[in-house]
Amino acid sequence: MRVLAIGAHPDDIEFQIAGTLAKYAKRGDEVYMAIATNGNIGSYRMSKKEIAEVRHAEAQKSADVIGAHLIWMGFDDEFLFDNEKSRLTFIDAFRVAKPDVVFSHVPSGDYNPDHNMTGYLAFIARINATIKLIETEHPPMPKVPALFHWPALGLAKYIPEYYIDVTDTYETKKKMWFCHDSQQGDWCKDAFGVSYNDMLESELKIAATQAGTPGCDYAECLQLCKSWPAIAGAYKLLP
Ligand SMILES: [Zn+2]
Repeated sequence: MRVLAIGAHPDDIEFQIAGTLAKYAKRGDEVYMAIATNGNIGSYRMSKKEIAEVRHAEAQKSADVIGAHLIWMGFDDEFLFDNEKSRLTFIDAFRVAKPDVVFSHVPSGDYNPDHNMTGYLAFIARINATIKLIETEHPPMPKVPALFHWPALGLAKYIPEYYIDVTDTYETKKKMWFCHDSQQGDWCKDAFGVSYNDMLESELKIAATQAGTPGCDYAECLQLCKSWPAIAGAYKLLP
């Protein structure tokens, strides 16, 4: 099977869905991690160019942990818009990955505009990537894939529909997460006064409590995009 995750920033995929991606990778599926923006405003110490290079290297290191392919789109952090360039870039990410299943942000309700925009552009691209007369570098996909939305940060205004027990891949998820060194010390504490590590742990534990499955200590959660064409039995694509 082929799997595509699309995050707004370097580290969003790790926070929300890396445990699930690790499960796919473990069973031999082809996994793609696409990142829309380059993280170039995320530092109090480095220049924009320097921090973008650091973020790119960290994202590659994380993808390497599970043998995933990295698609680096390179839009400016906090300035991702819906325009022709962004639509075509997202369409091309779909055409390169040729996914059966896609994971991305919810298109509205998250705290960060890049998150919402990434979810929206993924929503648009899932169909447009199949259309022959929308021409890009790569040929059109043969079918529309199922799209699942992961939660807004803090599980804000989000009612999960599916829970993935990631207890067995939680350590791999953390390993991927910790590849993003520059997020830990040089950004989240300085900018928001929070520990993202604590947030990551507590969100997965809350989801595990909601899932209520015996032996499940950590869970990731998802909603299926219900817009046409709804994919019958899409939950069977989950690992
Ligand atoms: Zn983000």
